[in-house]
Amino acid sequence: MQEILFLLLPIAFYSGWQAARKRYKGRQEKRKEISVRFVRGINYLLSEEPDKALDVFLNYPEIDEYTANTFLLLGNLFRNRGEINRALRIHQNLVARSDLSKSQRLSAMLALGEDFFAAGMLDRAESVFSELLKDDPKRADACEPLRNIYEQLHEWDKAIEIAQCTQQRSKVDQSRLIAHYYCELAAQELQKQNLFKAEETIKKAAKAYPDSARVLVLKGDLAYARAQRDEALEIYQQAIRQDTRLLGMLFNQLINNFKYSHELERLYAFIQQTFAKTRDARLFGYLLQLAYKLGKIREMRAEVEEHLNKGKPTLNTLASSAQVLASLWQEEHTCEITQVQTALQRLAASQPDFQCSHCGYKMHGYLWRCPACHQWDTVSNV
Ligand SMILES: [Zn+2]
Repeated sequence: MQEILFLLLPIAFYSGWQAARKRYKGRQEKRKEISVRFVRGINYLLSEEPDKALDVFLNYPEIDEYTANTFLLLGNLFRNRGEINRALRIHQNLVARSDLSKSQRLSAMLALGEDFFAAGMLDRAESVFSELLKDDPKRADACEPLRNIYEQLHEWDKAIEIAQCTQQRSKVDQSRLIAHYYCELAAQELQKQNLFKAEETIKKAAKAYPDSARVLVLKGDLAYARAQRDEALEIYQQAIRQDTRLLGMLFNQLINNFKYSHELERLYAFIQQTFAKTRDARLFGYLLQLAYKLGKIREMRAEVEEHLNKGKPTLNTLASSAQVLASLWQEEHTCEITQVQTALQRLAASQPDFQCSHCGYKMHGYLWRCPACHQWDTVSNV
């Protein structure tokens, strides 16, 4: 019996080898067919026939690690070219496949979320990124886009939650952002006259980022809403001392809210002192406007001349200086200066008053967050 078995051994070996060879041949043929399809797809792409390429890739039979990565990159390429629909089709097709590994599926979902975000379908993007986070709460790459979505949707509570999570997980400092989100909430409460709630929210913002000048502005708004005028003016001044850019945002509000002459005098003295200390040209235009309002233009003659001769005049300071000079020389009937004043003021009015120092975007009103590059605290007056 043992000999027969021994004799059968080579036959078994031979038939096993034959079967393996057939399987190998079958696999080889299949692989060859897949490679041909792949090359055809790439050729369509290179010959600028993206729809045909898309058909080839979407009907691709089997996906391995390399083809999955290639499809992922291809979808990203379409998105970066602004062809969001094509990117969406590829990434949706990938996510729907059953032969993906877990990490491939998660990468495809992340890409799909980014497609939805780029397409402006924020609710769909939100649900994709939230699902990713539910699946793996440590995924920092899903936090950032989700935070951006909540910023765009003005869902500040959720933005705070995500920023706090990111801070805990990736140790990236988010305190300034968190303070801004609380400030957004506090501003909403102030607008609704919910002063107690506003105060509580401002405290949270101050706790998140104690150096925030915006917190001071809101404290000033709160004091003003409570009719504590002196305190409000003091807090606004404190905010401007901390960040002189803020005078650009606050000036109109200040001269409208603090109309009593002793308040305007106090404001004038404050801006004068701060300008003397900083020589910040941005303050000078406002100082002249206030001097004009208070009838103190004669006091400003030397300052104006010095500014025009030695300072760094901006369009706004030029317009204000011209206004002062025109008033001073009115009695001499020199009309040229009045024309200069009118032209400059017209020009100044047509120019955006504020600009983002990060991306250069110009705008007419002050915004805490640049609408172009979405950076916070980068806007200041031109
Ligand atoms: Zn910007």
